[in-house]
Amino acid sequence: MITRRGFNKNMLLAIASSGFGAIACTDKNLKSKQKLGVALVGLGSYSQYQLGPALLETEFCQLKGIVTGTPEKAKIWSKKYNIDQKNIYSYQNFNAIKENKEIDIVYVVLPNSMHAEYSIRAAEAGKHVICEKPMALNVAECDEIIDTCARAGVKLSVGYRLHSEPYTQEVKRIVAEKHYGDLRYVAADAGYFSDTHPNQWRLNKKLSGGGALMNMGVYSIQSCIYGSGQNPISVMAQEFSTRAEYFKETDETITAQFEFSNGAVGNMMTSHNISANRMYSNFENGWVELSPANSYGPLEGNTSDGRKIKFEHRSQQALQMDDFAKHILFASQNVAPGEMGKRDMIIVESIYKSIAEGGAKQKLELGMMGIVG
Ligand code: NAD
Repeated sequence: MITRRGFNKNMLLAIASSGFGAIACTDKNLKSKQKLGVALVGLGSYSQYQLGPALLETEFCQLKGIVTGTPEKAKIWSKKYNIDQKNIYSYQNFNAIKENKEIDIVYVVLPNSMHAEYSIRAAEAGKHVICEKPMALNVAECDEIIDTCARAGVKLSVGYRLHSEPYTQEVKRIVAEKHYGDLRYVAADAGYFSDTHPNQWRLNKKLSGGGALMNMGVYSIQSCIYGSGQNPISVMAQEFSTRAEYFKETDETITAQFEFSNGAVGNMMTSHNISANRMYSNFENGWVELSPANSYGPLEGNTSDGRKIKFEHRSQQALQMDDFAKHILFASQNVAPGEMGKRDMIIVESIYKSIAEGGAKQKLELGMMGIVG
């Protein structure tokens, strides 16, 4: 029996070998592979609990290598995931990955301040790159990553898993098809309550680049954009601090308001002090909401006409990494390209600027930058 997943894969492989369709991959080494080899850089909690397990479910890529500074972790991972000793790197000898034909994709899962350095080193080693969110500390670093990947001829994606998951895709479809008419209002909240480990890197400005906005705020920004189908044309923002003794260097809670060129408005909140996880798009003739909207799934969705949005649950991270592998192998769409990460960082910088200027409105000239239909 051919399952739907098996059929899709066989069909894509057949298309790839037939010479028909838009075939991206001309690299003989890659074309001969059934699955692309992924190396995870940084074996912290996201790699341990999400990406490693997801790579057991992927159809087009598999875990082949790890980069870690902790020999004990290397032992545990190599046993659990059957990783060859020659595919285990430290941060010091990481550049040698260039010679390793089993590794096609390097996935950077490090503190934010290390994203640019490791994405650039990976691209210079000739590897395709997935860089975790937020893409980097600032727009200049995003540009460096994008330019290096372009020069090296490798593909680049940001770890925005939600673009590969069906609930988010359903909202995008409703928006694009104007199911309820034109958008009037979009709202998004993303945050959690942080009160343990005051020494964690997320509270250290040098390592994180910022607090809630850099961490969870990118989800609110993303929801406002996919939930409206447009980039905003302006933003104004406010910052709130209630536990300054805990959030010594980084922002605790930020709200921001967006204007869109069709006259719609948006409102976002992000926090390391408030647990929140939802998005809501309001149109001329109805609305759609996801709540939760950002967690690892299954998400939940409702519409104004009483429809419950429901999809079978699959690992978002497996879907995301497979989407990127298909982009490399079969020239399918890159659903979360580097330009999307850069666009969000432009908005992040504008939000911080607005706060520094007492909430002053910042113009945004983004056009369709980073919008993937
Ligand atoms: P974590 O603290 O659990 O892991 C960080 C890893 O980096 C650890 O293995 C640590 O040893 C290593 N590291 C190397 N140098 C370090 C240094 N100087 N200081 C601290 N750690 C150092 O963090 P995490 O939750 O795995 O997050 C890693 C990245 O993944 C972040 O950029 C985060 O935003 C992103 N992330 C994304 C999602 C998502 O849903 N897309 C979810 C969680 C985390």
